[in-house]
Amino acid sequence: GEALAVSARVAPLGSRLVLLLVEDLTEARRIEAVRRDFVANVSHELKTPVGALSLLSEAVMDASDDPEAVSRFAGRMQIEATRLTNLVQELIDLSRVQNDDPLEDAEPVRVEELVAEAIDRSRHPASTKQITMASGGASGLYIWGNRGKLAAALGNLVENAVNYSPARTRVGISARRIAMPGTSGVTQPRGTAGLIEIAVTDQGIGISEKDRERIFERFYRVDPARSRATGGTGLGLAIVKHVAASHGGEVTVWSTEGQGSTFTLRLPEAGSTRDRASTGSDQA
Ligand code: ADP
Repeated sequence: GEALAVSARVAPLGSRLVLLLVEDLTEARRIEAVRRDFVANVSHELKTPVGALSLLSEAVMDASDDPEAVSRFAGRMQIEATRLTNLVQELIDLSRVQNDDPLEDAEPVRVEELVAEAIDRSRHPASTKQITMASGGASGLYIWGNRGKLAAALGNLVENAVNYSPARTRVGISARRIAMPGTSGVTQPRGTAGLIEIAVTDQGIGISEKDRERIFERFYRVDPARSRATGGTGLGLAIVKHVAASHGGEVTVWSTEGQGSTFTLRLPEAGSTRDRASTGSDQA
């Protein structure tokens, strides 16, 4: 009697185990496919500027008796070299955000500083296109996280807002604190008192619903030609998504085609005033 009861208990367990193994294999295969795609994409993205550089250097050699042509080709070589440098830098950034634990050296990060830095980073392309950048609400807010990675994430969103907007439009960056839903009155662990929301709004070309599902994938671009023209690599939003998720936050997008987009980061607030005091930069 007892043996039967035992095998009856083991049998469903066994089939569950088999099922788990099968699921595990499918997941392993999926990860392997993603890895293979990534390597293929990287190779393709590297080949494009390297191929261009090779052709251009041949053109320079052929045109050695025409100084004007030489300098024209040299100018284009410089553009391709910059593209290559950007791509390699973004690949390094992506591998960093994927592999390091950003909370290992987490600290309270002043949102005002992040916003000012992001605006600074896009100041040149924005002024070329006469795009005004305005910010508000950041004063006195702190995020619990890695300063460099948070700066990279917000910097990317502002850069995109400027890149994908026509001339003489506006880019707005607004920050606010929102309470964690359903936790009022509950003592929060260090660094999780609430959420800080930073929204980057543009009046640009917008993103269709179909594309909104894919823009956070590595190398996905709505319009590869346009993205390349602005020096884009297709890695920016993948980096933003990784930074947000690894901080225990998220990034979402809202957009109307032809009218503009809003990218919203939600990140954990640095909790107590003691957290903030430890930065030594609390003047608010
Ligand atoms: P890229 O280097 O091409 O900008 P990203 O990963 O930063 O790569 O963005 C992926 C794609 O999402 C872009 O190529 C662009 O098509 C689209 N996109 C990103 N931000 C915006 C925006 N603010 N407005 C419209 N399209 C955007």
